[in-house]
Amino acid sequence: MYNPKSHKAEEFISHQEILETLKYADDNKNNRELIEQILQKASKAKGLTHREASVLLACDDKNVNEKIFALARQIKQDYYGNRIVLFAPLYLSNYCVNGCVYCPYHKKNSHIPRKKLSQEEIRQEVIALQDMGHKRLAIEAGEDPVNNPIEYILDSIKTIYSIKHKNGSIRRVNVNIAATTVENYKKLHDAGIGTYILFQETYNKESYEKLHPTGPKHNYAYHTEAMDRAMQGGIDDVGLGVLYGLESYRYEFTGLLMHAEHLEAVFGVGPHTISVPRIKKADDIDPDEFDNGIDDDTFAKIVACIRIAVPYTGMIVSTRESAECREKVLSLGISQISGGSKTSVGGYFNPMPEKDNSAQFDVSDRRSLDDVIKWLIEIGYLPSFCTACYGSGRTGDRFMEICKSQQIHNFCQPNAIMTLKEYLLDYASDATRAVGEKLIKNELESLTGLKDTVCKNLEKIECGKRDIKF
Ligand code: SAM
Repeated sequence: MYNPKSHKAEEFISHQEILETLKYADDNKNNRELIEQILQKASKAKGLTHREASVLLACDDKNVNEKIFALARQIKQDYYGNRIVLFAPLYLSNYCVNGCVYCPYHKKNSHIPRKKLSQEEIRQEVIALQDMGHKRLAIEAGEDPVNNPIEYILDSIKTIYSIKHKNGSIRRVNVNIAATTVENYKKLHDAGIGTYILFQETYNKESYEKLHPTGPKHNYAYHTEAMDRAMQGGIDDVGLGVLYGLESYRYEFTGLLMHAEHLEAVFGVGPHTISVPRIKKADDIDPDEFDNGIDDDTFAKIVACIRIAVPYTGMIVSTRESAECREKVLSLGISQISGGSKTSVGGYFNPMPEKDNSAQFDVSDRRSLDDVIKWLIEIGYLPSFCTACYGSGRTGDRFMEICKSQQIHNFCQPNAIMTLKEYLLDYASDATRAVGEKLIKNELESLTGLKDTVCKNLEKIECGKRDIKF
């Protein structure tokens, strides 16, 4: 039975409710009156239910789609302005005991070189990342209680936060590791992590079990209930996502929104972020073997519909996507992107030829962080390295409250300007610095409140100060 307030996976992600929603969406995808009502509700930017959003996703009328895209752009602008937050993944270890059929880390893959970074190697990786200009990382690891126990992850987080190289520092460590216990989530919380990210991969239990035939990840309920345990452990920023290509995208979209509704209903706060990964070619993995791949237009529609359904949730697109595709979805709702990413273990300090590296998947956007920053500025965005919300305890419901009231702009815009200034002074190429300084000048002109404070801080940054709380 469907119950968004239950802690049981099969009740808050009810298969029956998803099937009924899909039928409802099919029955109503040409119901212009209902669609107009949903669009009207969506224009208030307070979100939509999974049923309403599923109708919009199912609708293939060209005019309606144009309205959906326009609305997504408007909401993106109202909630996030022109800011785009930057981060990089840091792969700690690709040892894994699971049998996920889409992932090259699966246990039976005997040709991928297995690697786990020592604390000294993590230091080297972090220095390389700091030298690029990164301030925010997402650490990634396979699931292996012997090689990657929680103590290893905690030591690694401590190491990462401790490194201060030149003007660099990592100010927020997000964590993407396998589902774990409340006790371990408490430990991650105490270690000062930012967001705990865990992709559901698929919400369809039957497919989930086939796609995860062996290992602890096989347990659908344990995986699906992980965010509840994370929140019970004190982590109030969690990141959802499904791996598009594994199952029917409309099923996943509905499940994803039901998961968000569940978190909101039970904990009073929805997901902090939603990621939109698509399956990619990797060692031992051919994406064409999966039947549910989605084209770029469908991908864009999904992003737009998520943006409309959960306006206050950040949305992340990684370097799995090409520059062209990323540009398209940035305007439709994406608020965070990775840049200069390496998906191999140790790949920042020691880039290896593709054939003998330990990469998790092929990246499509291979540009350097500096190129990504310059590109963002040139196409009208303000790159941000801000981590102030985390640094000042604006997480969970405190963040959401400010975000929902559209006040987050007052914090984010000044911080984005100041952190971009740091980047330009410390890491940018001459070409990026030139376009960046011009952008900062324009941004300052349009800044309403806090202009004096920002100008004073920019002067301090120019004089070498780097410990302003971003
Ligand atoms: N072991 C952790 C877990 O079980 O969630 C961490 C996950 S892994 C390092 C991060 C994510 O990469 C996975 O959740 C999966 O969605 C994604 N991934 C795995 N194989 C992929 C592929 N071939 N293409 C694109 N993304 C992939």
